[in-house]
Amino acid sequence: MKNILTHFFCFIILTGNLIAQQSPCFFDEYTNGENLLKIERQIQDGVQNILVGNRNMDSIKAIPVVVHIIHNGGSENISEAQVQSQLKVLNEDFGKLPGTNGDGSGVDTEVRFFLANLDPDGRCTNGIVRVKSPLTNHQTYQRALLKELSFWDNTRYLNIYIVKNINGNVAGYSSFPGGPPEEDGVVVQHNYFGTTGTANSFLGRTGTHELGHWLGLYHTFNNSCGDDICTDGDFVCDTPPAFEPNYTCSTKNTCHNDMPDVSELKENYMDYTPGSCKNMLTEGQKMRIQSSLNEIRTYIWTDENMLSTGYDSVYTPPATCPVAADFVTLTRDICFGNSVYFMDISLNGASTWQWTFPGGNPAVSNEANPTVIYDSIGIYDVTLIASDGTSTDTLTIASYINVGSPGTGDALPYSENFDEGLYPPVGITINNPNGGITWVLDSLASTSGMYSMRMDNYASVCCGTVDELILPNLDFTSVSPDSQLYMSFNWAYARSDPSFSDEMIVLLSTDCGTTFTQVYYKSGNSLTTGPTQTTPFIPDSSQWKSAFIVLDNYKSETFVEVKIANVTDGGNNLYVDDLYIGNGSDLVSAGEVFLENGNLEIYPNPAFDKINVKLHLTEKEMLSVKLFNAQGMLLEKISNREYTAGQQQIYLPTDGIPSGVYFVVLEAGGHRKAVKVLVQK
Ligand SMILES: [Zn+2]
Repeated sequence: MKNILTHFFCFIILTGNLIAQQSPCFFDEYTNGENLLKIERQIQDGVQNILVGNRNMDSIKAIPVVVHIIHNGGSENISEAQVQSQLKVLNEDFGKLPGTNGDGSGVDTEVRFFLANLDPDGRCTNGIVRVKSPLTNHQTYQRALLKELSFWDNTRYLNIYIVKNINGNVAGYSSFPGGPPEEDGVVVQHNYFGTTGTANSFLGRTGTHELGHWLGLYHTFNNSCGDDICTDGDFVCDTPPAFEPNYTCSTKNTCHNDMPDVSELKENYMDYTPGSCKNMLTEGQKMRIQSSLNEIRTYIWTDENMLSTGYDSVYTPPATCPVAADFVTLTRDICFGNSVYFMDISLNGASTWQWTFPGGNPAVSNEANPTVIYDSIGIYDVTLIASDGTSTDTLTIASYINVGSPGTGDALPYSENFDEGLYPPVGITINNPNGGITWVLDSLASTSGMYSMRMDNYASVCCGTVDELILPNLDFTSVSPDSQLYMSFNWAYARSDPSFSDEMIVLLSTDCGTTFTQVYYKSGNSLTTGPTQTTPFIPDSSQWKSAFIVLDNYKSETFVEVKIANVTDGGNNLYVDDLYIGNGSDLVSAGEVFLENGNLEIYPNPAFDKINVKLHLTEKEMLSVKLFNAQGMLLEKISNREYTAGQQQIYLPTDGIPSGVYFVVLEAGGHRKAVKVLVQK
């Protein structure tokens, strides 16, 4: 069941500076298959309720909107006029407003949108929140984090987020009705939003399309031609099936299982056609939208909510709203010596700020978005007095910042092969924020011993959900500063569908987990080690790859947190085994040198099809030559025999071993010599 999916990512492929085409949105499962089926059943039951007259769909349902503009001070900090231009387009399109571009051959869905006039605390607002945050360059897996910046109760408001960039190539994405509340909302790149300011030629119809998803609509080309035009695809009978997305305004008919066999609706907002030829939603789509509002998003359009959010017909806003002070940080829990970045999210255009930070340095600030260092353990209040010159507002949040003490990291080397069979493995913390499917011990595949760790993306957790294997805090100063410090591990992965992929990310923090740096990233082809398959992936011994991550930049750090994150795309199993962090000296300890440099040559380095070992023995020796991988696993014992004195040449073939770092270890008479070799294929 990979065709019922509830998160939608709409990609834009850029060729040079030109928009070549939108490539297929992909979507992921939200929580799990059963929950999705439940949501779909709810929507379909709701459609039946409308058809038999138990539910109304012919009175206007209005949706209060808050637009959170996440910017970094650039043009993505769009104007209020640009926000209003998008609201205008939404009402033209969902309302089939006569004389506008939305007045095509479709129907009025009876849904309207308005910028909230009152915030969740009943304060006067223009419905726009501005936040200065680096998250304006946004990755879809950060969507829950984005919402921690600013989020208004999603049962009362539609949260729309404007950012500068999404994954480099995504115009926008949306949640589906019934998904996790903390991820609910629509995210759109600023240049796909509205019709003025920085808006591009899509005429605001990316917003219309994403709102369609938020209201329970699938793409018109969902599941290609499908089996049945009503009970498959987009689950709407009056949208003709389409084999694939339409990227142009020309008329096509790629599916012939509809009766009568008609052309695809290139005018439909839920296709991928350019904004200029989109102008309609069908009666069937209207029923799904109304059903989603009747059955799932049930409170947001009620009279009570209209009153409390200030709907235009029941509320007259004042000419200007006074400033309402507000602030946020994403790092409330830190270690002493760390800094905290505070963001002003005051409503209604503050122009001066007076911050007070008990326990912080500086203790006061007049910046909009100050960074403050906390040097002492404790729990601290924060106060902001915001003003626009006319009005002033004060907000104090008690016990907002919690400053703790860093521990002492464990000495290196660190290794974990999971073969004790304990869950969670000793010292490892599993972070499973959504409480769903997460990393488990697996006994069907491993590169050493019995066990590995597996993340079951196949059983499908929510799209974009992160699950982390957090290693114990480590002291990186415990290895010799002259040696190379690295992390290595084995992984195996296959996709379930060639068009989407789960992600594997290694992150590292040197500030008690306040901030993380990405040190390794694999997705798509670079993550794949086995063939795409629609059954759960179980790797054989040839379907593993090794990660080798140089960590020399962190050798002076005494308290380092490293974690391996899986970001699910509802794909297939990811396995991880044989973690190692160190400089390798414990794996292949050099012992006493019995071959001086000059008497031993290992070449080429990097090696390709074979490693040559050339050595000169001063007397005859029993010599063993072994090849280890970067985690210290013995791969091959090449030879163990007596060699005569003089020049010797030994070849180590590299067939069957993947690219990576290896150790060639020579042993004779209780002495060892290890040489690190890079194999490239
Ligand atoms: Zn879409």
